[in-house]
Amino acid sequence: MLIISKKDELTERISLFKDQGKDSVGFVPTMGFLHLGHGKLIEKSLSENGLTICDIFVNPLQFNDKNDYQNYPTNIEKDISFLEKLGCDVLYLPAHGDIYPPEHVPMDYNFGGLENVMEGKFRPGHFRGVAEVVRILFEIVRPDKAYFGEKDFQQLKIIEEMVRQFSFPVEIVRCPTVREQDGLAMSSRNARLSVTERKAATFIYEQLQWCVQNYKQFSPLQLKHKVEAAFETHPLFKLEYFECASRETLKQIENWDETGSAGIFIAAYLGSVRLIDNMILF
Ligand code: AMP
Repeated sequence: MLIISKKDELTERISLFKDQGKDSVGFVPTMGFLHLGHGKLIEKSLSENGLTICDIFVNPLQFNDKNDYQNYPTNIEKDISFLEKLGCDVLYLPAHGDIYPPEHVPMDYNFGGLENVMEGKFRPGHFRGVAEVVRILFEIVRPDKAYFGEKDFQQLKIIEEMVRQFSFPVEIVRCPTVREQDGLAMSSRNARLSVTERKAATFIYEQLQWCVQNYKQFSPLQLKHKVEAAFETHPLFKLEYFECASRETLKQIENWDETGSAGIFIAAYLGSVRLIDNMILF
C-alpha cells in the first residue's frame, strides 16, 4: 500500500493510474481508528474499482466540542496494518496544512434544512465542517465512487446534497451499518467506553429494535415519548434526541402516512461518550 501525505503527489499518482487506462477510482474518507465498519466500505470499494484510496484525517472543523476532538482515538500503525491486510491501494494521510493551508477560508453551505435538525441542531457547525473537508477531498481525489456509512445517515444525506449542488461527477455509495454481535453500531468512539459502559451500550440498539417491531401501534410522538421514558430510567445514559423522521427530508413526522420512507434517529451520551445510531422503519 502506498502511503501519501501530500496532495500533489496523490493527484500525480491518480493521473498516472488513469493514464494507464485503468478503470474507476474509489474513495473512502475516514477519521481513522479503523474498525470493521470502515473495513466494509473499503472492501466494497476494492470490489468495484481499479484503485481504492482511503483517507485518514481527524478534521478539526467538524468538532464543535474541543474535548471530543482532543480525545478522538488514533492509532495510525494499527490502521496501516488493517488497510494493508484488506489490500487497500493508497492511504492518503495528510497533515493539517495539506487540507487547510493558511489562506484557507471555509465556504458557506446551505443544504435546504438537512443540516439544521438532529446532529445539526445539537452540534452547531458540524456539517459545515464535514461538507468542507469532503468537498476539499473530492477536489483532490476526484473519485468516481465514494463510500459512506448509513450509520451517519444525516451526513450521508448532506454529502449527497452537496454532490448534487456542486455537480461533482461522483457516485455516492451507501453502505449499511456494521454492528457488534450485541447490536451496538461500530464506532471509533466505542473504544472510549469503560467495561461497564460498553455492556450498557447495547441499550440503544435494543430500544431501536423495539421501535422497529412495535412502531405501528403508536404515533411518532407516542413512540418518541416511549423511548424518552425508557432513557429517563436508565442509570448511565443521557438521551440527547430521538426522532422519527422522513428519510428523504429528515423532517420530523407526525403521522406515519405522511412520508414514503421513515427512520428513527438517536443520539445519547454514555458517560462522556456520545453515541449515535439510526434504523429504517419503512
Ligand atoms: P468516521 O471515521 O467515523 O468519520 O467514519 C468514516 C466512514 O465510515 C463514514 O462514512 C461512516 O459513516 C462510516 N462508518 C463508521 N462506522 C460505521 C459502521 N458501524 N458501519 C458502516 N459504516 C460506518
